[in-house]
Amino acid sequence: MLDILSITMTGSRYNLHGHTQFCDGHAPMEHFVRQALDERFTHYGFTPHAPTTVQSTCNMSRDDVPRFLDEVRRLRQVYGDRLVIMAGMEIDYIDGFGPADPYFQSLPLDYRIGSVHFIPSLHDENCSVDVDGRFERFREKMERHFDGDIEWVVRTYFRQMTRMVEQGGFDIVGHLDKIGLNASQYQPGIDCQPWYDALVRDLFDAVMDHHYIIEINTKAWNEFGRTFPSERYYHMLRRAQAPVVFNSDAHYPHLINAGREQAISRYLAI
Ligand SMILES: [Zn+2]
Ligand SMILES: [Zn+2]
Repeated sequence: MLDILSITMTGSRYNLHGHTQFCDGHAPMEHFVRQALDERFTHYGFTPHAPTTVQSTCNMSRDDVPRFLDEVRRLRQVYGDRLVIMAGMEIDYIDGFGPADPYFQSLPLDYRIGSVHFIPSLHDENCSVDVDGRFERFREKMERHFDGDIEWVVRTYFRQMTRMVEQGGFDIVGHLDKIGLNASQYQPGIDCQPWYDALVRDLFDAVMDHHYIIEINTKAWNEFGRTFPSERYYHMLRRAQAPVVFNSDAHYPHLINAGREQAISRYLAI
């Protein structure tokens, strides 16, 4: 496997989490490569939302996986002398199905990100609900699928994350506490409560026990001034000497570096 940490330790400009036309990104892969070259990046990793078990327009279909891998190979031929281009995936963990599945393990990927975007409905455990999207939609789902029980949603998100970590099959833990953004808009201050803090810390301990790399995801920085994990956990990460990567989770080429420099300088200032 690619030595991910050697990329980040050189202080190089990189992004290992990005979406394109193959899932819910808004430009072809080549546009991201050109932007990366313009911004003097040394490494760019593509991580389409992987095929999954639920109906989702955001996820790549299995039929598209060979085309995605072909496009990475083509781009390497054209631009590979100036930029290290990597093939990854952001793989959903949904109730037992996730990165550890033999299908994902068989793919010739440079690395895998494990993430939770879906949790089961309170009413029907076989119905998976996307809790990752914009807040307006999240608020509707809170009533329709979760009877407004935000604590149940948060606890279930962290339970799914912990199960994913225990099951394994990936390299980087994606946006560790992402549920905190929608949850804290639904109930301001929820992410400062002791029980919430304990969930984050318990998950962090499990992640460290299993030796994963932790992503500091900067996708929401421009709009919300927040990273995942939240800045309040930087001290915990630094004290534990956690292996971290700073990713923009870009869906548009002009955002490939969004929030990264700010997060890195704040992280290093602690
Ligand atoms: Zn994600
Ligand atoms: Zn993503």
